[in-house]
Amino acid sequence: MSERHRSGFVSIIGRPNVGKSTLLNAFLGRKVAITSPKPQTTRNAIRGILTGDDHQIVFIDTPGLHKPKTLLGERLNDIVRRTLSEVDAIVFMLDATQPVGSGDRFVARAVLDSKTPAICVVNKMDVAGPERMAPQLVAAGSLGDWTDIFPISAVRGTNVAELQTTLIDAMPEGPQFYPPDSVTDQPRELVLAEIIREKALQLTRQEVPHSIAVSIEEIVERGDGLTEIHANVFVERDSQKGIVIGKGGQMLKAIGTKAREELEWILGTNVFLKLQVKVAKDWPRDPRQLERLGY
Ligand code: GDP
Ligand code: MG
Repeated sequence: MSERHRSGFVSIIGRPNVGKSTLLNAFLGRKVAITSPKPQTTRNAIRGILTGDDHQIVFIDTPGLHKPKTLLGERLNDIVRRTLSEVDAIVFMLDATQPVGSGDRFVARAVLDSKTPAICVVNKMDVAGPERMAPQLVAAGSLGDWTDIFPISAVRGTNVAELQTTLIDAMPEGPQFYPPDSVTDQPRELVLAEIIREKALQLTRQEVPHSIAVSIEEIVERGDGLTEIHANVFVERDSQKGIVIGKGGQMLKAIGTKAREELEWILGTNVFLKLQVKVAKDWPRDPRQLERLGY
C-alpha cells in the first residue's frame, strides 16, 4: 500500500488556565496562542497548523466555556459548542493541581454532547507529583467516556509527543488543507493585537480585569527593515485609562517596550510601535462595540 495521508481538526478545550495554549505551543514549537497566568486571555479560536510528511492537524485553541454573564460570554460559548461538533477529535484538558469541579464537569458535558471522539489530558504533572496525579487520573476517568487518558506536562513537554502520535492516528485519511509552511491562518492583525493585549494584561495585573481590547489601526512596512504599527488600546472606563497610561506615561511605555520585543521576534523586523489608549464605554456588553473589536 502507498502511504496514507491523514488530516483533520482538533479542538483543545478545558477550563481557563489549565494549559491549552501552552500545549498548542508545545505541539507547534512556536508561540501562536497567548498564555498568561490569568484566565481568559485567549478569546478567539486561534488555529495552529501541524504539518508532517503524512499528516496535517489543524488545532483550534478554544476559549474556556463558562456561565455567560455578558453578551461577549454568550458569543464565546456559542463559538465553542459549534466548534466541538465540527472537529475530528477533542483534547479535553484538566489541571492536575486543581480539584475537579463543576466547571470541569460543565465542559466535559459539552464535550460528550458533541459526540466527537475525545482524549482526556491531565496537565501539569511536573508540579502535581505522583501522589496528586493518581487520584486525578481516576477522577478524569469518571468524568466521561474518553478514548484515552494522558498525564502530561505541557511546559516540560512530557508525554506531548505520545499525545501527538495518538492524535495523528485519530485523524481520518485526507488531504493537506494548508501549505506545509503555514503555522496559523489567523489574520496577522489579530496575532499582533493579542500580543499587545497580553502585555497590557500582564503589566496592569488585577487593576484592569479583562476590560482591555486592542485593535491594530495601521501597519506600514518601511523598506529599511522597520515595521511601523499603530494600535489602539481600549478600556471600559476613564479610571482604567489612567491606570494603563500610568504616572507620566510610564505604564504605557512599559507595555509598549515589552510588546515591541515580541512583535520584533514574530515579524523578524525592527518595530516602531505607537499605542493610543481610548475609552470604549462598557464594550464587553455592547453589541456594536463587540462587532467593531472583532468578537
Ligand atoms: P489556557 O488558559 O488553558 O490556555 O492556559 P495557558 O496555556 O495560558 O496556561 C495557564 C498557566 O499555566 C500559564 O502560567 C502556564 O505557564 C501554566 N502551565 C501550563 N502548562 C503547564 C504545565 O505543564 N506545568 C506547569 N507547572 N504550568 C503550566
Ligand atoms: Mg489559552
